[in-house]
Amino acid sequence: MKRRIAAVSGCLILCAFLFSCAEKDTRLSVDKKGRTVVERYGQLQVIGPKLSAADGKPVQLRGISSYGLHFAGKYANEEVIKWLRDDWNMQVWRAAMYTSDGGYLFAPAVKSRVISSVDAAIKLGVYVIIDWHILHDNNPLANQDKAIAFFSEMAQKYGEYPNVIYEICNEPNGQDVTWQDAIKPYAEAVIPAIREYDRDNIIIVGTSTWSQDVDIAAEDPITGYDNIMYTLHFYAGTHGDYLREKTQRAIDKGLPLFVTECGTTQSSGGGGVFEEETLAWFSFLQKHGISWVNWSLTNNGEDSALLAYNADRTGKGGWTENELSQSGKFIRRVLRNEIRLK
Ligand code: MG
Repeated sequence: MKRRIAAVSGCLILCAFLFSCAEKDTRLSVDKKGRTVVERYGQLQVIGPKLSAADGKPVQLRGISSYGLHFAGKYANEEVIKWLRDDWNMQVWRAAMYTSDGGYLFAPAVKSRVISSVDAAIKLGVYVIIDWHILHDNNPLANQDKAIAFFSEMAQKYGEYPNVIYEICNEPNGQDVTWQDAIKPYAEAVIPAIREYDRDNIIIVGTSTWSQDVDIAAEDPITGYDNIMYTLHFYAGTHGDYLREKTQRAIDKGLPLFVTECGTTQSSGGGGVFEEETLAWFSFLQKHGISWVNWSLTNNGEDSALLAYNADRTGKGGWTENELSQSGKFIRRVLRNEIRLK
């Protein structure tokens, strides 16, 4: 009898071990069989509130955002994205193309950094977010025609690739920039322009107050289209329980969420690195299976910059520990599953 109990408990331990390995494997950019995350998950879809793989299983993606591509576009290359995939265990890269602040509307050539990002992501088997990064141009309606032209071109060029995710307005903001009167009408104009060429890839819509009012979007979501998600952004040194409660209200309403940008710092990008507060957010997101992307890959000296000040001026990846900032070391450990979330 004792021997049988020992055999059964041994079997249970082995099963638990194999289950935990399998579970951990889903968190890898490239699994032990050498399959990339895109090879494993394929064409993403939204089922109920969940981002899901082609086979219908819910998935949580985790990754890194570029800094504004017109400032730090040199990192939008295959070597860097490969390094982030292999050394940081990055599953999704966000190509943040500012529209204002000297970005695309002023210097359209920055689009080449989006293209280099997407081409590298396709080659390397990682997901890539094409981010129309409105910020000081507060209202997405202001440049809706240009957004439609841009996303039509991207959808025509890349709509057949499962790698691509469209983020159509980063952070709408301003008192008059409401979900009902500005953001939703904008989304209802841009989404069909993408769907004309790409019937299925995920489209992520920003929300008011710098993509914090997901609870407001949840009261009046977009209807008539599949595979639409909504953006929540947070900075752990600024946003805590209050924003998690708003988020919980959106979750309770069944709104599909994707955190396309979050930081370990205050919302200014400074104020230090808030590791405990960031882990509270990451635990919350893991519990709900919500994907997240960290801001951002630059060496510009901000606390949210992942590289140490002035490190890696050539933009080739292959960084040593000394070339990473405090935030960079921390986020790398989280992505590599070296910090256990509660
Ligand atoms: Mg498609």
